[in-house]
Amino acid sequence: MTVELRSYIGGAWRDGVRLSDDLNPAHPSEVVARTALAGAELAAEAVQAARSAFAAWRATPAPARGDILRKAAELLEERVESVGRDLTREEGKTLAEAIGETRRAVSILRYYAGQTLEPDGETYPSSSRVTFLYARREPVGVVSVITPWNFPIAIPAWKIAPALAYGNTVVWKPAELVPLTAVHLVQALLDAGLPPGVLNLVLGKGSEVGDILVTHPEVDAITFTGSNVVGRALQHKAIEHGKKVQLEMGGKNPAVVLADANLDVAVEQVARGAFLSAGQKCTATSRVIVERAILPEFQERLAALAQSWKLGDPLEPDTRVGPLVSEDQLQKVSGYLQLARREGGRFLAGGEATTINGEGYYVRPSIVTDLDQGSHVAQEEIFGPVAALLPAASFEEAVALANATPFGLSASLFTNNLSLALRFASEIQAGVVKINQESAGLEFQVPFGGMKDSSSGSREQGKAAREFFTQWKTVYIDQLP
Ligand code: NAD
Repeated sequence: MTVELRSYIGGAWRDGVRLSDDLNPAHPSEVVARTALAGAELAAEAVQAARSAFAAWRATPAPARGDILRKAAELLEERVESVGRDLTREEGKTLAEAIGETRRAVSILRYYAGQTLEPDGETYPSSSRVTFLYARREPVGVVSVITPWNFPIAIPAWKIAPALAYGNTVVWKPAELVPLTAVHLVQALLDAGLPPGVLNLVLGKGSEVGDILVTHPEVDAITFTGSNVVGRALQHKAIEHGKKVQLEMGGKNPAVVLADANLDVAVEQVARGAFLSAGQKCTATSRVIVERAILPEFQERLAALAQSWKLGDPLEPDTRVGPLVSEDQLQKVSGYLQLARREGGRFLAGGEATTINGEGYYVRPSIVTDLDQGSHVAQEEIFGPVAALLPAASFEEAVALANATPFGLSASLFTNNLSLALRFASEIQAGVVKINQESAGLEFQVPFGGMKDSSSGSREQGKAAREFFTQWKTVYIDQLP
C-alpha cells in the first residue's frame, strides 16, 4: 500500500487540498508515496501554531531543548538504514550517499544539542562603578525554513536543529520532490518529545504556500536554500515585509589543476566533485581549469574514470552515479548538453541522457571541452553530472577564470606548491576553499556559505548559525546605594 504523507501542524497530521505522487526517479512508474499537498490556509495555520508555541519553547531551558535534539539524533541513528533507503527511493542518490547524508543529519542534531550548553552571552566592563553590563543572545521567534530536494535531510537538519536549539519555533517547507524524507526527520523529533507547534511541517508547492511563509506578519525570519531565481524573489518580499532573511543558492564551482598537481588525486577528486550525486550538489565541480602543460594527460584520465563509473539503480551497491531527481531536471540538463554542442563544445565523455532497462532519468557523467569561457554552459549552474574543461596558461590566468562567474560558493585547487595554495585561498572569490580536495563535501562544525550571488545573509552551520537564529539583547543593571 502506498504511504500517504500529510503536513504536521500544531501537533496534528493534517489533510491537504489535493494529492500529488512522489516518484522514484530510477523507476518513475513506482509511486514511493502520495502527498496530501497543503494550501495557503494550512500554511497560515502552521505559522499561527509556531507563534502559539513560541513563548513556552523560548522559556524551556536551553539544555532541556538540547536533550530533545540529542534524543532525536539517537532515534534517527537507529533508523538510518531505512531512512537512507527512502531517501534514495525518492531522490535518486546512491544508497551509500543517502545513508551518509542521514548520518550527517544525526551528527548535526548532536552538535546543536551540545551548543545548548555553550555560553549564550557576554559580560562587559561598564564605565559606571555600579552597573553590571551584559549582552545575551535570544531567539528570533518564528522561523520559516524553506529547503531544496538535493540534500533532503542534511540541509533541513542544519537549519532546523540550530533554530530549535536557540529557542525558535519553526515552519518547515521541504521541496515537493522529497516529502517522505521530511516526514522521517519530523517523526524523529516528535518521537524525541518535541512539544506540539514547535516544529510544523508544510508539504506544499512553493508557488502556493511560499508567499504565506515569507510574508505572514507572525513570521520573523526566513532561511532559504535553493535556486537563485526563487531565492532573490523571496528576499525582495521578505525585506519589504521587514523580515530577517538568509539565502544559500547556486554555484558554478571551479576546480583548478596546476601542472605540479598529484594527478591521481586530482583526477579522482575532480570526478567525485563533478559526478557524485549526479552532480546535483550546490558545491559540485562544474568547471575544471587545467594548466595547459598537463591538459592532454589530465583530460584523458578524467574521461576514462568518468566512463568507468557505473551508472545505474542507486539501490545497487556498485552504482556510483544514480539518476537525476526528476523529469524536469532531466529536461533541463539535456537542454544544456544540446546547448554545449551548439556553443562549439566537444564531449570527451558522456554528453547524453539515457535509461537503464528502459527507464529512469539518467545522464552519463559528461566532460565537455572547447567551450568559450563566456558561453552559457561555462557560466550557468547546470545541476547535473557535467564538467566543462577550460585550459589556462598560468596560475594567474586560472584564478582569473575561476573568479569569472557571478557565483562564489566553493572552489578547489590541486597543487603541491604551498605558496600558490595560500595565494589561491586568499584570491579566490568563494566561501569554501579546498586544497587537494573535491569542491563538494562539508564538515558541519565550520561556517558554510558563499560569496557573490551564491549567498546572502550570515553563514550557516557550526557556531556561525547562531548569528541568524538569535538576536542580541543588552542589559544594564545598576546596584542601588
Ligand atoms: P528551488 O529554488 O526550485 O526550490 C527551493 C525551495 O523553494 C523548495 O522548497 C521550493 O518548493 C521552494 N519555493 C519555490 N517557489 C517558491 C516561492 N515562490 N516562495 C517560497 N518558496 C518557494 O530549488 P531546488 O530545485 O529545490 O534546488 C536546487 C537549487 O538549490 C540549486 O540552484 C542549488 O544550487 C541550490 N542549492 C544551494 C545550496 C547551498 O547551500 N548554497 C545547497 C543545495 C542546493
